[in-house]
Amino acid sequence: MIVILKPNPNPDQLESLKNWLLGKGIQIHTSLGTSQMILGLVGDTSTLDIDLINALDIVEDVKRVQEPYKNANRKFHPEDTVIQVGNTQVGGGTLTIMAGPCSVETEEQIIEVAKAVKASGATMLRGGAFKPRTSPYSFQGLGAQGLELLKLARAETGLPIVSEIMDTSQIKLFEDVDVIQVGARNMQNFNLLKLLGSQPKPVMIKRGLSSTYEEWLMSAEYVMASGNEQVILCERGIRTFETYTRNTLDLSAIPVLRHLTHLPVIIDPSHATGKYALVAPLALGAVATGCDGLLIEVHNDPAHALSDGPQSLNPQAFDQLNKKILSLHAFLKEQEA
Ligand code: PEP
Ligand code: MN
Repeated sequence: MIVILKPNPNPDQLESLKNWLLGKGIQIHTSLGTSQMILGLVGDTSTLDIDLINALDIVEDVKRVQEPYKNANRKFHPEDTVIQVGNTQVGGGTLTIMAGPCSVETEEQIIEVAKAVKASGATMLRGGAFKPRTSPYSFQGLGAQGLELLKLARAETGLPIVSEIMDTSQIKLFEDVDVIQVGARNMQNFNLLKLLGSQPKPVMIKRGLSSTYEEWLMSAEYVMASGNEQVILCERGIRTFETYTRNTLDLSAIPVLRHLTHLPVIIDPSHATGKYALVAPLALGAVATGCDGLLIEVHNDPAHALSDGPQSLNPQAFDQLNKKILSLHAFLKEQEA
């Protein structure tokens, strides 16, 4: 349920409304917009009398929220969520460019890629240390050592780092990772989501291979309900009947999520297509559709990459693409102004 308050509500009346709700075991999430304050109520609201609340002097309107996700719901929080990461931000009109290799392989590789993507205008370095591979015989990532190499690359370039956690047992290793990624295969690992809700780093949740928007938003809800509101959603293609591409990029996710939630939306054209030649057109399509950022795999030697070489851009191709991405984004912003 949401309670929309009139502008400048009387503080005493607001206090007594809140105390009354808390006394009924309801949790209150206050959202302060530019002109209005909204109280998002979580808990068993079935016993609350809507007419009674509506009749209060300070209340403009009361609505039941039918969707099962509450904290992630735009009705609870009309303003876009903006997440501060180091000296950059995700959401709020900024275009976040996360770039880097699928897997961190060696110190030389990650430093070289980090410097290159930074020079091309990337705002975060993304690299996998723990890799969820379909085959147990494929390279599984460098693990903890991979995270240490990412930190070295961060020290060298100043780029915040993004990396995937696969299991609750790894949580300590991620204390100093700037954005913790939950991969598609773990989108519904509820124990992991709850744990990530109880730590302070932003969490980026990739969409499950065959997950609906609602299931995906419920995964965000798990993290938020556990206390961490800094959640980013990443569309990485869904499973369809098409086999030519690795997955099918669902660009509808951008306007749909914009409507349903206040959380930022990142698009990953690399895993969505599996083919380097398709990354540029879909990245540009995603920017034109209004995403908050992109996740693009970049490798200094794609032909010899230990994972996802066929979908990785080399630094030159990334540089060319990012120029187009940044100018398209600037052009669209100019049109909005
Ligand atoms: C990745 O980001 O490297 C990855 C494994 O992606 P996904 O979870 O989307 O398959
Ligand atoms: Mn990958």
